[in-house]
Amino acid sequence: MLLYRLGPEGFYAATDNAGVVRMLHSDPYAESPQEWRFGRPVDINSASLLVPFLVGKVVGIGRNYPAHARELDNPLPAEPVIFLKSPSSIIGPNASIVMPEESQRVEYEGEIAVVVRHTLRRATAQEARRGILGVTCACDVTARDLQRKDPTFARAKSFDTFCPLGPALRVDADFEDLEVVTRVDGEERQRGHCRDMLFGIVELLVYTSRMMTLQPGDVLLTGTPAGVGRLAAGQEIEVEVSGVGVLHNTVEAWGQG
Ligand code: ZN
Repeated sequence: MLLYRLGPEGFYAATDNAGVVRMLHSDPYAESPQEWRFGRPVDINSASLLVPFLVGKVVGIGRNYPAHARELDNPLPAEPVIFLKSPSSIIGPNASIVMPEESQRVEYEGEIAVVVRHTLRRATAQEARRGILGVTCACDVTARDLQRKDPTFARAKSFDTFCPLGPALRVDADFEDLEVVTRVDGEERQRGHCRDMLFGIVELLVYTSRMMTLQPGDVLLTGTPAGVGRLAAGQEIEVEVSGVGVLHNTVEAWGQG
């Protein structure tokens, strides 16, 4: 089942048991999908889509696919590498990624994003698994030159527009069988499966919840597979996660918009 949020009001819509997208008359955090109540049908293709959930904090994971760690000449971490992206970096489907004038090398990182449903604090694996609302597509846009130059990832990861999320939240995903594909101008650049992650989705939630309480709407970007590369103004970028759909964004030069 897929959960959407429609602009401009931010109302929820979701697929019903017959696969028809309808207005959702339930709170997706409070009620499980089996209990959801639906209203009138929605033409999702002509709807203006927002990020499909109200986002809390954005936790990123670095070097979680061995082949990607190798391509950037980084050693494999013994523990997950955690960083934060600013909530103000979030944009929805079809919005523009704006290249900041401070960076000469902005790169895409297509990722599987996991959204938290229940508060998780020092969670067990079972609690973490039950505490997931769903998965969506993310692009962890990164100013690679600033990431290399700065002592922390904060600036490189947090420019405005550096965190596209969407287009839908898949609430019935199998967290052991998810694939992420990234395309730039229609050409495939990255393909990764969650079985190739160094630390799995549930393990990452358990680990993160030991240091920071995860709250409803918090999102975990689970790392990017090999094939990261530079973005240029005018390009179209797509990130697709199994059963979620395609997150589409355009790239804009600084001062263009
Ligand atoms: Zn990343």
